[in-house]
Amino acid sequence: MNAIDIHNPATGERITSIEADDAATVAAKAQRARLAQPAWAALPLAERQACVRRFAAGVQAELDDLAVIMTRETGKPIRMARNELNGLMGRIEFFLGAVAAATATETVHADGGMTEQIEHVPLGVVANISAWNYPWFVGGNVFVPALLTGNAVLYKPSEYATLTGLAIERLMHAAGVPRDVFTAVVGGGQTGQALLEQPIDGLFFTGSHATGARIAQALGPRMVKLQLELGGKDPTYVCEDADPRAAAESLADGAMYNTGQGCCSVERIYVHERIHDAFVAAFVETVRGFRMGDPMDEGTYIGAITRAPQLAVLEGQVADALARGATLQCGGHRRPGPGNGFEPTVLTEVNHSMEIMREESFGPVVGIQKVSGDSEAVALMNDTRYGLTAGVYTPDEARARAVLSQVHAGTTYWNCCDRVSPRLPWSGCRDSGVGLTLSTHGIQTFTRPRAWHLRQP
Ligand code: NAD
Repeated sequence: MNAIDIHNPATGERITSIEADDAATVAAKAQRARLAQPAWAALPLAERQACVRRFAAGVQAELDDLAVIMTRETGKPIRMARNELNGLMGRIEFFLGAVAAATATETVHADGGMTEQIEHVPLGVVANISAWNYPWFVGGNVFVPALLTGNAVLYKPSEYATLTGLAIERLMHAAGVPRDVFTAVVGGGQTGQALLEQPIDGLFFTGSHATGARIAQALGPRMVKLQLELGGKDPTYVCEDADPRAAAESLADGAMYNTGQGCCSVERIYVHERIHDAFVAAFVETVRGFRMGDPMDEGTYIGAITRAPQLAVLEGQVADALARGATLQCGGHRRPGPGNGFEPTVLTEVNHSMEIMREESFGPVVGIQKVSGDSEAVALMNDTRYGLTAGVYTPDEARARAVLSQVHAGTTYWNCCDRVSPRLPWSGCRDSGVGLTLSTHGIQTFTRPRAWHLRQP
């Protein structure tokens, strides 16, 4: 085993050191999961539901402490940490309520002596390699429905959310999920690679496109079910008939919430030339009101950048934009002092020659570009390799629908942004990934359909 250090990104301090899994311990965990899975799948659904319900109650009982753990290791502002945990409760409720109908055997044809049925059987042992930015959400989107549908889960939290991952494992076991049915696999990329080498039946990944592509390459020849939820460069278009202030306040929050470290954070804004200046003024005023500081402080809105190397990425994007003629409206620099702080940053007079409009920022940095109308907005929104979410602000629903139907995105927003619902599928197209979580489809995805052809003698 080798140890990984856990740091507080807001202060730079080392919190603790944890033993990481190596190839041998990962293989042992995978073997035990394989042995444990059939008995878990054979339980009545109600018993698996009861375990998940107890898990939710355990999270609820420790919610404040769990929020502190997440804030300390990721730099997420404490209020947002509690919001995430509260939001998780709604997602679990959805899964608990929807799983029976989503996985009930369907009779799709019955004629004379012939019946045809679809049965939803668990995949078996699934690996969940997860991200740090919303560790409870993106993990829970996978491990909750995977467990409910009878799978064993090997859960690898991000190395930047290890303590949260271990808390999840502890609460699962306390809730009655057998030890080998839910197992945390601890470590960074090497541990993730070791997990890929196990005889798993599904790999559910949330993270960057670069890692997702490596995983797809590694698993390709093995025909393992693969889901990849990757990055985005999510655009929004503000039409000339929108209220510039209301749109600006909503979009500033969508761009900067969670310190801009959201896969569906607003990353590019296109504003009709007729309201551009009013929108920019209101946007910058809103952003200037966001308090940056200690994530443990209840009043903090902008916390820390979780991964220190991302600071250089953000600086590089700002420098590139300025060199190509952009205007810096506010921010643009690291926050002085210890820890990974970056000022909320707004750039205007931007264009698609600039990295800021092309590459995922994953920080509190946004570009606002003037457009002449709907067709230019559609062309620019689609000028990306990603396709996670896209939005339009206008009072005119028909116009919003017309624009958004032409945009490549898994999720579309009218007059809202940076929003996820458990009732709707969460998916990306293009380089934002393959497969989906959430909704009834995001329950069935942890099963495979078994086709039954039944002829009565
Ligand atoms: P990352 O790709 O750096 O890491 C993700 C996970 O992969 C971590 O657990 C890491 O340890 C593991 N890993 C790294 N190398 C590996 C390898 N070679 N083999 C196996 N596993 C490996 O991503 P991150 O920094 O944790 O997350 C940020 C990214 O995640 C952003 O791009 C963001 O947009 C994306 N994201 C997407 C969604 C979505 O729903 N689409 C949600 C959250 C985050």
